[in-house]
Amino acid sequence: MSEQPLVSIVIPCFNEAGNITELYAQLTPILQQLPRYELLFVDDGSKDGTADMVLKLKTGNEHIKLLQLSRNFGHQAALKAGLDHALGDCVISMDADLQHPPEIIPDLLKKWNEGYEVVFTQREEDKNLSWMKRSTSKLFYKLAQKLSSVQLHPGTADFRLLDRAVVDVLKELDESYLFYRGLVSWVGFKQVAVRYQANDRFAGSSNYTYRKMLALALSGITSFSIRPLQLSIFLGFFIASLAGSYGIYVVYAFAFTDQALPGWASTTASVLFIGGVQLIMLGVLGEYVGKGFIEGKRRPNYIIRRKDL
Ligand code: UDP
Ligand code: MG
Repeated sequence: MSEQPLVSIVIPCFNEAGNITELYAQLTPILQQLPRYELLFVDDGSKDGTADMVLKLKTGNEHIKLLQLSRNFGHQAALKAGLDHALGDCVISMDADLQHPPEIIPDLLKKWNEGYEVVFTQREEDKNLSWMKRSTSKLFYKLAQKLSSVQLHPGTADFRLLDRAVVDVLKELDESYLFYRGLVSWVGFKQVAVRYQANDRFAGSSNYTYRKMLALALSGITSFSIRPLQLSIFLGFFIASLAGSYGIYVVYAFAFTDQALPGWASTTASVLFIGGVQLIMLGVLGEYVGKGFIEGKRRPNYIIRRKDL
């Protein structure tokens, strides 16, 4: 078999009309050095004509392909659509907003040629990123590391190269709460990191609101770990023993000292405290029950409206 390997590049896009042309311009010199490639854009229900821009590019380059989802399904679902339809011997996923520099694609391919099956990228600490985003991201990785059983590398994003073997495994995974950063780590294979300096977003603003980020972080943790559930057991024990010791003290104070019982203040405080803890744990439990409920429906991760492959 002497055929040259096919390299797929998958780019989920949500309202990226301002970035497509520039992205393509920056990708072109790199793509031209590849013997065979396909450039697969996944339009995640954009409302700003992103799909039309891709279709226009497509008339000049037959390697460009476009999948249009029926509505906005979210970044991870769009990525899954791309992985499911990519044909390459390896698949590189990246963002459309040029935060993931195309220049390092050759480095990813080099590692792949050395035999690595997962080449993930790690962003160097970015001074331009807002303080809030940097510290929330740091906090998330710390928390995720403590709570879940898969290893998450700080500064990783969905900018990575996957060998066909890994893509085929990932295609089989169609859980409702996709979190590829965790899944890719979970599947194993020979992995290596490439470090890079993140660019600023070229045009538009981030589609990840803090709400979406929080949802992704929560989903990242609860999809990979049941430790929060175990935590509630320990917390329960801890608080029960605190309450127990306090009870002993109350009996002691009543029997051997002349202090009157402190009265309602301590009672109310402890009732409120325990009530609060119970509510938190109920919420944790609810999160998992709810996930089971959604997962049980086995709905597809995305729906395709139109394929231009
Ligand atoms: N994206 C998507 N669907 C969404 C949100 C984002 O396909 O619902 C795409 C977006 O077009 C971009 C990538 O996912 O290519 C990362 O999104 P963004 O740049 O907004 O995230 P950030 O870089 O702020 O984490
Ligand atoms: Mg971005």
